[in-house]
Amino acid sequence: MDVRPNSDEARDIAYHFHSYTNAEAHEKIGPLIIESGEGIHVTDSNGNRYIEGMSGLWSVAVGFNEQRLVDVASRQMQKLPYYHNFSHRSHGPAIDLAEKLIEIAPVPMSKVFYTNSGSEANDTIVKMVWYRSNALGKPEKKKIISRLRGYHGVTVAAASMTGLPYNHKSFDLPMEGILHTTCPHYWREGQDGESEEAFASRCAQDLDDMIQSEGPETVAAFIAEPVMGAGGVVVPPATYWEKIQAVLAKYDILLIADEVICGFGRTGNMFGSTTFDIKPDILTMSKQITSSYFPFSAFMINDRVYQPIADESGRIGVLGHGYTGGGHPVGAAVALENIKIIEERDLVANAAERGAELQAGLTDLTSHPLVGEARGIGLIGALELIAPEGKSGDFAPGKLGAQMNAIMLRNGLISRNMTDAMAFCPPLIVGANDVREIIQITKKSLEELAADINGAA
Ligand code: PMP
Repeated sequence: MDVRPNSDEARDIAYHFHSYTNAEAHEKIGPLIIESGEGIHVTDSNGNRYIEGMSGLWSVAVGFNEQRLVDVASRQMQKLPYYHNFSHRSHGPAIDLAEKLIEIAPVPMSKVFYTNSGSEANDTIVKMVWYRSNALGKPEKKKIISRLRGYHGVTVAAASMTGLPYNHKSFDLPMEGILHTTCPHYWREGQDGESEEAFASRCAQDLDDMIQSEGPETVAAFIAEPVMGAGGVVVPPATYWEKIQAVLAKYDILLIADEVICGFGRTGNMFGSTTFDIKPDILTMSKQITSSYFPFSAFMINDRVYQPIADESGRIGVLGHGYTGGGHPVGAAVALENIKIIEERDLVANAAERGAELQAGLTDLTSHPLVGEARGIGLIGALELIAPEGKSGDFAPGKLGAQMNAIMLRNGLISRNMTDAMAFCPPLIVGANDVREIIQITKKSLEELAADINGAA
């Protein structure tokens, strides 16, 4: 990239340390600067328009120019731009939102705790689980089991629960007491001749074995996304959730559903827990809760979790935990309005209907020789690319996704490659024509990728 001195690109390289970016490569490549958004589209600083096929970071449900969210934020800024919930303080938006979340919860829940990001919510959950075990007089019950390739964030405990190498390597993680069990990806992990159901049974048995070898009295909770997102969009096989929950019930282990991606309609129900008949004790929310117009997160807990914590804090005198920005009035007001829009426009049904079209379109693309698997549910999906035999360099396994990502971008579609899996997660407002266009661009990009591979042969 030709970077002009003093341009935005040059200043970005000079001053901006990026998340999830190869810092060394960034100094050469520079940024893609996004300037504006409208509906499912965003436009860069050179005037190129893209379909935002990832909703930003799996997060913008209502599209990129929802005036109602702008208005509600502005009204709340004028009325009460900030307040907190320490020391018995509260405010209207935090109360209204807590009531709303409990009302729409997929299972009976008791209380909502406010945080600022998905990572922060999950880190807080770890502390609450520990606090509860101490309150119950079971100080040994502290271990948490998550899954290989699960994603739960990047703060110390959350990154430990994340089961991806990048999040551990050189960070001295995972921390002690956090374990990772089998990733329920049948296509990758299933053995020759093993049915999906037999694979689901094996996943549950692996979990059971891990609990047994650690000592059931030492395991406090199991955390999982209903559908894995950042780990490659993994939809668990039929009967997986039923079998996993049976194991947890056997050993009195709490279930934490991380709905940071699945929550608020993504899988075709308001919560992924409903889609898969999951009955969590704790449920994490962020991203689509405000369509990410405002940084915000929260988690809900049931009485089984809340009551011992409340009793303990009563004994100690105060719960020694909370965030300055937790339950921010502007974020809470935006979340309420965003949920109202999702309900009024029936965007959950749209996710189910457009989702079925998206999944059918992705499945059609499996006829292409570069595609190994199409997977997904509702408006979240992935295409797994497979490199042709004997390729090295840019087209080797592990490198193909990045090539495809660049081609798709050039063709006007923002995706995200998780190694060689291309993710699809468009805003919930996506229309039938938009879905067709997403599939057409993907098909054209696959053909161009194949031509590039042949040209390099
Ligand atoms: N949990 C899940 C399932 C996520 O997908 C993410 C973010 N991709 C997080 C937690 C962490 O959220 P944040 O980036 O807001 O910390």
